[in-house]
Amino acid sequence: MTKIYNFSAGPAVLPKSVLERAQAEMLDWHGSGMSVMEMSHRGKEFTSILEKAEADLRQLLAIPANYKVLFLQGGAIAENAIIPMNLLNGKSADYVVTGSWSKRSVKDAKAYGQINIAASAEAEDFTHVPAFADWQLNRDAAYVHYCTNETINGVEFVDVPETHGVPIVADMSSHILSRPIDVSKYGVIYGGAQKNIGPAGLCLVIVREDLLEQASPLTPAVFHWKTQAENQSMINTPPTYSIYIAGLVFEWLLAQGGVEAIEKLNIAKARLLYDYVDQTDFYYNPIQPAYRSRMNIPFRLRDESLNDAFLKQAGARGLLQLKGHRSVGGMRASIYNAMPIEGVQALVAFMQEFEKNNS
Ligand code: PMP
Repeated sequence: MTKIYNFSAGPAVLPKSVLERAQAEMLDWHGSGMSVMEMSHRGKEFTSILEKAEADLRQLLAIPANYKVLFLQGGAIAENAIIPMNLLNGKSADYVVTGSWSKRSVKDAKAYGQINIAASAEAEDFTHVPAFADWQLNRDAAYVHYCTNETINGVEFVDVPETHGVPIVADMSSHILSRPIDVSKYGVIYGGAQKNIGPAGLCLVIVREDLLEQASPLTPAVFHWKTQAENQSMINTPPTYSIYIAGLVFEWLLAQGGVEAIEKLNIAKARLLYDYVDQTDFYYNPIQPAYRSRMNIPFRLRDESLNDAFLKQAGARGLLQLKGHRSVGGMRASIYNAMPIEGVQALVAFMQEFEKNNS
């Protein structure tokens, strides 16, 4: 059988050893006689799974003690509304637009209050992050929101801007755990799980404790961060199986040497692909090099009439899900933590061959 490499932007590839472990534990988790899917979320077995997942995540990201970790549902799009409900408190908020996902965040937040666009790269087709010095930040804003890795456009933040005490709210859905971060520089970090963490259905929210006091009374209990923080994310039934798999991914990542070690590998993987795309005229990547994502690499063929043939032949080689997002077209290779370097090597080898056969 052809070896498959899955370049999907999410739900995405998971470490094989994690899937094998889940398979081995499927019918009988640690002698409990049942699957994790069948367990009471309040029982001692699942409580131990949740507590270990949180402890491992805290270790991986060195999350300070004054931050709560919430395991919620609704995904990152739900958070677009949940964030203003929890934080606006009659104030305005500043949003920076660097791609499709932060643009979507603005649209969803607008229903809840005054949303100002502090900076936007839309006029340049989202090919960079606007210089921090040019951001029009309001010192009275409740928060500053941006997306640290734009999954569709392939734009990634490297640095954290100075916001003069205004909390930063960061959508890290598509690169969380791919590199070390200084959590203390953020007010809220959130992300859907289905890229670097585990299956869809789980949304992580890491929130500084002092920000738990300003939620609108209209915030539904399941989306009320303080209520969830006080109830171990169990005001409702949490997505138990997704949390279990996320926990296995955290264990896997620790065994790899943590985010420092995986970052090195992620740099090497991204370099392989960008270096090749940059040295040929057959393909190109439009993003300014300083802001190129290590996780989501869009590339285009100069001759777009070859797109279908490219995808078909790639698919026949087991290189799957390379089609760019429907809103932008072209190609995109998502190379999350769990994508082995062999997958990127196989992709580059195919791209070279395709170029040779079609030039
Ligand atoms: N933000 C980013 C950066 C994303 O990549 C995605 C999903 N691709 C979302 C938000 C939306 O996530 P969900 O569909 O899980 O709500």
